[in-house]
Amino acid sequence: MNAMWLLLAICVLVIVSTTPADAQRAGASAKAKKRLLVVSHTAGFRHEGAIKSFDKVIAELAEKSGQFTVDYCRTAEDVKQMMSPEALKKYDGVIFSNTTGNIGIPDLQAFLNWVKSGKGVIGIHAAADTYHDEPAFIEMLGGEFLTHGAQCEVEVIVEDAKHPAMTHLAPRFRVFDEIYHFKNIDRAKLHVLGSMDRHPPDGLPQAGQPGDYLLIWCKPYGKGRVFYTGLGHREDVIESEWYKQHILGGIRWALGIIRNPQPRIGQPAAR
Ligand SMILES: [Zn+2]
Repeated sequence: MNAMWLLLAICVLVIVSTTPADAQRAGASAKAKKRLLVVSHTAGFRHEGAIKSFDKVIAELAEKSGQFTVDYCRTAEDVKQMMSPEALKKYDGVIFSNTTGNIGIPDLQAFLNWVKSGKGVIGIHAAADTYHDEPAFIEMLGGEFLTHGAQCEVEVIVEDAKHPAMTHLAPRFRVFDEIYHFKNIDRAKLHVLGSMDRHPPDGLPQAGQPGDYLLIWCKPYGKGRVFYTGLGHREDVIESEWYKQHILGGIRWALGIIRNPQPRIGQPAAR
């Protein structure tokens, strides 16, 4: 009888000592980290310094956040091996880190369908200079690189201060970088996160003139999520703390780590 009471007491102790916090921790550790593929193969212009800086930054963000792991896909052979429909199955998202040109994804339609199935895409700067020969890729990303002028300082207007990629930024923040101009871009099809209300002072004919220039956006793609930032040419931009936060927020949003309301496509966000 005494032994039975002892057993009962032990059971009660075990139940009491398993607090909700313990359960939460156990749940968090049991939940696998997201897996990201960082693609930096280039078939056109190569942002060598920016790619190297980004590789360092993304490793740091993976380590510090503890929320995702990264694999690197750097060469044509890597793309062939790591971006096949079969190989993509183990990933939750892809970062196009200053990729350019037709990088040779083995089955591009299968890749796009994979994104549509609920995966994340994060595009950095020259990601928009990738696959000019594939309108379906451009449509997925939301815009296509047209040209750029001299590097310059611009004032970026934060259009959605609640988006995880933008929460830490001033309503109008200034950045010195190479600023892209886009074609095949339509505000009505994007949830714009950052824009400029005048042409960058980059020496091009329209420099400084008022206008609507999009720079950072996100959008749903099927059940997937696409985040793109035009910033990320200069190494000092990529390695700055605000940019790291910007990218981490974009990743968390694209991978669904942070739940955020569905992007309001084409609607100006509340300021
Ligand atoms: Zn560039």
